[in-house]
Amino acid sequence: MLDPRSIIFILSALSLLMSLVLFAMPQSIRDRLGGSRHWSAGMLMLSVAALLYGLRGLAPNWLSVSLANTAALTAVAMIYAGGRAFFDKAPANRQLIFAVGLATLALTYFTYFQDTLAARSVIFSLLSAALLYLFGRDVMRYRPRMAERAVFPYLFTGISVYFDVIVSLLRALNAFWATNDGLADLFAPTPLNVLYFSTHSLLVICISVGFILMSNERLHSLLEYQLSHDPLTNAFARPVVMTLARRELTGRKPVSMLLLDIDHFKTVNDTLGHQIGDEVLKHIVRSLNAVLRPNEPLGRYGGEEFVLLLCDADERQAGIVAERLRRCVEATPYQDDAKPYPMTVSIGCATARPGEDLEQILNRADTALYRAKHAGRNRVEHG
Ligand code: GH3
Ligand code: MG
Ligand code: MG
Repeated sequence: MLDPRSIIFILSALSLLMSLVLFAMPQSIRDRLGGSRHWSAGMLMLSVAALLYGLRGLAPNWLSVSLANTAALTAVAMIYAGGRAFFDKAPANRQLIFAVGLATLALTYFTYFQDTLAARSVIFSLLSAALLYLFGRDVMRYRPRMAERAVFPYLFTGISVYFDVIVSLLRALNAFWATNDGLADLFAPTPLNVLYFSTHSLLVICISVGFILMSNERLHSLLEYQLSHDPLTNAFARPVVMTLARRELTGRKPVSMLLLDIDHFKTVNDTLGHQIGDEVLKHIVRSLNAVLRPNEPLGRYGGEEFVLLLCDADERQAGIVAERLRRCVEATPYQDDAKPYPMTVSIGCATARPGEDLEQILNRADTALYRAKHAGRNRVEHG
């Protein structure tokens, strides 16, 4: 059976390895993923802490006990802080420094003024359990809940963390009930010590694999979002709506397409500048999306033109939606320095006829849009 000191050295090496894996992520990815820096630094800190623990009896106590404890608690605090950054929560650095500082003072007291291993063990295990619990709670609470995103990385990390919390609490309970003598040798190869250190090592690996899995999942969803959305307006990218429309056309439900074109948009650029023009585009998409349903995807068709797919709408229903959108844009002018800038859209609608392909439907919608423009703009026409 492995003795606790060997397990601690293995833990140190494994933490260092996991920290290197996290540090090896390209800079561009690390910039996009809050938390990855905290996690890599946290694992490095844990590796140092484990190395110092391993030197117990060989190095002075201030190094292998006091500094080791503070380093380990700092590592756990960094892991929790990384979770907050990953899930876009406000940093809690001051509270964390205070908690680790206070625990360090208490640990110092129970080392130099009253040498009580039980008290040290209880304080250390309780604080690391609390920080890990908060981290696990964030992972579980903020895990993605959309069908298109993988939840496994979050469940894996959260469950591993909760497991580690239980192990730490058991350790604290054991320390609380045991006599000082019973705990005297941290490295005694007692079943509980071996169980504690080996589950801890295994969980450290699970948790850092969890970091990598969660980072990958987040990155994947970021890329997926960028591929499927227009970067300026956040409307869907044109191919996404086209693909959805082709799929809908194979079904039995009536499919309608709307083409929306902002009226006199060039004037916005010419009078307010291109940058405000961009803001107006974003504003109009936000207003439209606010009144659209999730199954009514709005895509940027190009420039200041947009396309809307209505999956279960005949000509009459498409007309109602189009009129709602037209009125919505008219009623929500762009506000620039408190000065409203009225905007309108012209809309061309087309409802699929039997045997028609997408290009034919869009052609009819485009002709209707052209008619709406010529009839004076700010109106809906059917093709
Ligand atoms: P109409 O009512 O006939 O549609 O007139 P319009 O001015 O809206 O149409 P036109 O096609 O003459 O001009 C479209 C303008 O939209 C020209 C182009 O510079 C501007 N535009 C296209 N894409 C963007 C963009 O991403 N940002 C900004 N600011 N302007 C854009
Ligand atoms: Mg246009
Ligand atoms: Mg236009």
